[in-house]
Amino acid sequence: MLFRSDWLEQLAHQAMALLEQRRKQRELQEAQAELQRLANTDALTGLMNLRAWQEANVLERERLERWGEGHAVIALDLDHFKKVNDTHGHAAGDAVLRAVGSLLARSFRKLDSVARIGGEEFGVLLPHTGAADAAVLAEQLREALSELQIPFGNLELRISASIGVAHSSEASPEGTQALADERSYAAKRSGRDRVVSTTEPLDP
Ligand code: GH3
Ligand code: MG
Ligand code: MG
Repeated sequence: MLFRSDWLEQLAHQAMALLEQRRKQRELQEAQAELQRLANTDALTGLMNLRAWQEANVLERERLERWGEGHAVIALDLDHFKKVNDTHGHAAGDAVLRAVGSLLARSFRKLDSVARIGGEEFGVLLPHTGAADAAVLAEQLREALSELQIPFGNLELRISASIGVAHSSEASPEGTQALADERSYAAKRSGRDRVVSTTEPLDP
């Protein structure tokens, strides 16, 4: 039989061990959450990366299927971005990407998904948004981008973007992103620094 003090000591040890185990569990959970965040984040801009963006689109398609709730997609490709790299160096290109990312992040609602989906390509998924509203938002974004002055050393860099907008009611569930993409290339072909939100023939 244990003496009372031994018994108390043993109890204290067990409590300490339990606390230590809880602390380790918490640390492990925090590390897992951080890993998950890193796996879904674009390191340069802090926006969602392609993988997270695709997941968000899959979820949105499920919402559409279940509740018929429409959504819009904005696809954005920076114009003549290679020229920034070629003229001012890769670090300048990175500064432009970071500034565009930051503008995008502060231009949309918390529930919208804003992602860098390629080198100088970005996507925005707008849940519960109609085609006309999305087109207005895209035009505001185009304007804000064309007004952006990006400090780099003693330079102020400027950029524009070709933007495509599509609504889930216009395509198959899987086709909305592709349609937004197609329209961003149509914007590119028709002169850049513009938004295309319909498939109507463009003005010459
Ligand atoms: P367009 O108007 O036709 O879209 O021309 P563009 O120059 O924007 O397009 P292009 O596809 O010719 O060039 C994209 C460039 O983006 C080429 C690539 O080196 C650069 N790029 C891709 N990722 C990064 C990055 O993380 N940082 C920097 N600085 N450049 C990048
Ligand atoms: Mg591109
Ligand atoms: Mg480009």
